[in-house]
Amino acid sequence: MNQERPDETIAKQIVEQVMGIQLEHADTHGGVDYKSSAGDVALEVTTVTEGARKGTREALSKSEALGSTTELQACWIVHAMDTQPRMKNFVQQVQQAIAELEFAGETRFDREDAAAHMVEKGDLSHIYQPLLQAGVERAIHFPHPDRPEDPDHIHRIHTVTGSGGSVSGSDESLDRLVKALDKKTDNPAKLRASGAEQRHLFVWLDDDTSFSIGRPLAHGFPNWADEGWGLPTTAPKLDPAITHFWVVHNRSGLGWLWDGEKWQELRDLPLT
Ligand SMILES: [Zn+2]
Repeated sequence: MNQERPDETIAKQIVEQVMGIQLEHADTHGGVDYKSSAGDVALEVTTVTEGARKGTREALSKSEALGSTTELQACWIVHAMDTQPRMKNFVQQVQQAIAELEFAGETRFDREDAAAHMVEKGDLSHIYQPLLQAGVERAIHFPHPDRPEDPDHIHRIHTVTGSGGSVSGSDESLDRLVKALDKKTDNPAKLRASGAEQRHLFVWLDDDTSFSIGRPLAHGFPNWADEGWGLPTTAPKLDPAITHFWVVHNRSGLGWLWDGEKWQELRDLPLT
């Protein structure tokens, strides 16, 4: 007997409220999560997230807490992938390499340029290699004036993490989400087996969802409905077993609903 999870209960309440229907827990032995009593509506709830990002962030904060004893002439801003696995010694390895870059008179690092430089066996290859291995995308020398309020300031690297790849707007984010869902074949299979006419797939996004997928719904961007970050403009390329498609971010309370014909914006959704 499967217990109802809180994220399932909240998803059910959202669907009930928006659609004006009643659903009952149905996943007692592995079927869809919810069905209407007449059996004409089925709801399956899932989450698209990347636990790897959480692990990366935790490993990085441990490495930052430990710090590096390598002295720098200035602070640097370092951009790194948040999905790469080896973050445990990130600060120690990267700050060492950055100090060598400074010593060589360099003020920036760029992954693609560095890779090309290494192919040509350039002079800086031995410094670039550990930076590439650590997953550094870019690093920029960031000189700042002395800080009277912080006389003990020690220059260090400041790490910014972000997901690989960028997207141009909601349509591309949707495309990536649908591709991520293609791997979860049990969702459409359960909906198909339900025999219901309306087959709803409800997808939760969270702060560990790849930013390329979650960006349109992750924040109340001041102009989030502008410049391509509003509702998608194209139909999602879904498995035909899915007739209704919900995408909701579990912190922002923003969401989208595809009803088979058009998109609808969801706001201020109840998340508890
Ligand atoms: Zn500094």
